[in-house]
Amino acid sequence: MATGKVRISLDFECGWGVAADGQWRANQAAGIYRDLRPALKHFTKQLDDLEFALTWAVVGAMIDDPEKRDFSHLRGQYARDIGEFLAEADEATIDGRDLLDTISGMRTPQLFGTHTYSHLLFSDPEQGVDVFAKDLARAKEANEAFGLDCTRLVFPRNHFGHFDIVRAAGITHVRMPPRNTPDPTNRPGRIRRAWSLYSRPVSPVWEEEDSSGLTLHYASEFLNWGVSGGSLKRYMHQHRISRALAHAANGADVHFWLHPFNLSQTPGLKDFMDDFLRQIAEYRDRGLISVTGF
Ligand SMILES: [Zn+2]
Repeated sequence: MATGKVRISLDFECGWGVAADGQWRANQAAGIYRDLRPALKHFTKQLDDLEFALTWAVVGAMIDDPEKRDFSHLRGQYARDIGEFLAEADEATIDGRDLLDTISGMRTPQLFGTHTYSHLLFSDPEQGVDVFAKDLARAKEANEAFGLDCTRLVFPRNHFGHFDIVRAAGITHVRMPPRNTPDPTNRPGRIRRAWSLYSRPVSPVWEEEDSSGLTLHYASEFLNWGVSGGSLKRYMHQHRISRALAHAANGADVHFWLHPFNLSQTPGLKDFMDDFLRQIAEYRDRGLISVTGF
């Protein structure tokens, strides 16, 4: 019987994750969201061939009917950023309904969760508890319109908090950062982040229940070395991923994550993922691990 576990979750968001900092403009100009379409077809075909069911944490607004999209709950700068994003970004940067069709059309049924409705940071001091509650309620409606589960939450940028509200919104599990990483809301500098990434040991999944009854799931190894990464960074990152996978083959429970758009953004990542998925399938077929979502 397999003892190790590989979990993979996807932060499924098109341009929403960078709506506030304006990075979507450069990404869009580089064709990343356009090229995401064929890249996702390739990736999901691979998942289907290997019969992997992963968890897709969906930004609700991305799959919502454009006529029904509602951001009247947002306040302050984030409300203005989203207004600008919706007014100026291309459809392929905002709307992911066609991407969801690709995933829903797979032979291997996938697992779903939410990444909030508007990619709202739970650390944003301009929002109130009512805003977080409303954003999760809208996320739930958006998922449920497609019959998608909405009991698992991946906090945008791992800025976690307001567990009582999250639990009251019907969420049972939240993804937390690995237990041995710097506080994500502290904006650790590049050097500190790089040091942490390469020096800290792989942190297997750790789950605990908080006083609200919510399961806090501490985990995650990022599968992307980034566009700006030179060959050394790429090598070190790939080495880290191999090390994490070896832990799983030795019985650990390891959670990996990726943004689907990274596949069309980072040179070489698509091929790397093909090999990575094949390696996981080989371990599974040898009975060393099981493969699942978050
Ligand atoms: Zn995100």
